[in-house]
Amino acid sequence: MKHTASQSRRQFLASVGGAALTIPTLTDAWGRPLQQARKLGVALVGLGSYSKNRLAPALQLTQNCRLAGIVTGTPAKAEEWTKKYDIPQTNVYDYKTFDRIIDNKDIDVVYVVLPNSMHAEYVIRAAQAGKHVICEKPMAITEADCQRMIDACKKANQQLAVGYRLHYEPFTKEVMRLGQEKVFGPIKFIESSDGFRIGDPTQWRMKKAMAGGGPLMDVGIYAIQGARYVTGEEPISVTAQLSPKTEPQKFKEVEETIFWQFRFPSGAVSNSTSSYTAGIERLYASCEKGWFELSPAFGYGPLKGRTSNGPIEQPVVNHQATHMDAVCKDLMDGKTLPDHITGVEGKRDVRLLQAIYRAAETGKVVDLK
Ligand code: NDP
Repeated sequence: MKHTASQSRRQFLASVGGAALTIPTLTDAWGRPLQQARKLGVALVGLGSYSKNRLAPALQLTQNCRLAGIVTGTPAKAEEWTKKYDIPQTNVYDYKTFDRIIDNKDIDVVYVVLPNSMHAEYVIRAAQAGKHVICEKPMAITEADCQRMIDACKKANQQLAVGYRLHYEPFTKEVMRLGQEKVFGPIKFIESSDGFRIGDPTQWRMKKAMAGGGPLMDVGIYAIQGARYVTGEEPISVTAQLSPKTEPQKFKEVEETIFWQFRFPSGAVSNSTSSYTAGIERLYASCEKGWFELSPAFGYGPLKGRTSNGPIEQPVVNHQATHMDAVCKDLMDGKTLPDHITGVEGKRDVRLLQAIYRAAETGKVVDLK
């Protein structure tokens, strides 16, 4: 049977004969019990599928943060979540009352998990409320929005992380090392693709104004990341092509499948596909003296990898818990978050997303230098 802290306390009291003994609760500067104070309080904004199925369960595993609050427009979800996760009513907000979070000492970090077009507004409001922010990918739907988010966080003296969970994932870190340290020699060619068959055609992901685009914005961003983090380089030019739509009634506003090619300063080239109509999830690098690959490469895992020398062996972790713990550890230690998981990186990707659409629409090479 699980031995809980309250049981130990009861047993201790019993062992001293039930005498009227009060054990003082140690508190931090805010008056919070010290055990809680060691974990940063996270409020999730938008209780959709990623919050429900991934982030909230991960926050039950984290060492450096805990689920402390919620922001939702759906009262039934508020009721369900407060019961399930023992969240006090004082830590529940809707989109109108959200700014009152400024007065809530339980919340240190606001995690924005809304449709893409809403990220900018809620990141900016969270920063103005004096909270550090984690924002889901893609950081925003325009580069200008990314800059506004970065500026707002800087002005409020708060840090801004993006939900780049793979940057702390062991298989991904290993292929970053293999590529960036040129373990198999210089990379010549990369295949980096991410796609899946989308369901409900009425969801916000199919609406250009909310999503910013189709599969490229949603999962193509992982393929962009893959090519960038195995080379450790920024692309210097891009070409792109839209595939003809096979289901035009379904894909009225966003692309169905898109292909693009990056050139990197070292001479490496990458070829990528992102699709809402076909499943693909692969990151492959062909190098002068061998090759390495991850497949699956971008999902929640377990990821799997091989090189020309054999399988890649790495521990399997919970991506979301590992990411949030790492971000919150740096925040607790007062460290500046590394660029590769902040708004700086988020903006680089959004710039590339926009450039890929431009290249596809014009049919021209877009210079990224
Ligand atoms: P969902 O559609 O499942 O959830 C979005 C939630 O946002 C809704 O449930 C709702 O929550 C809230 N919301 C507020 N206004 C609107 C609106 N006008 N239309 C729709 N929803 C609204 O999306 P996901 O959870 O799948 O995605 C959310 C974000 O997380 C996206 O940016 C996505 O790219 C990212 N994501 C990242 C993943 C990763 O691996 N890093 C994986 C999946 C998603 P409520 O009812 O509580 O108000």
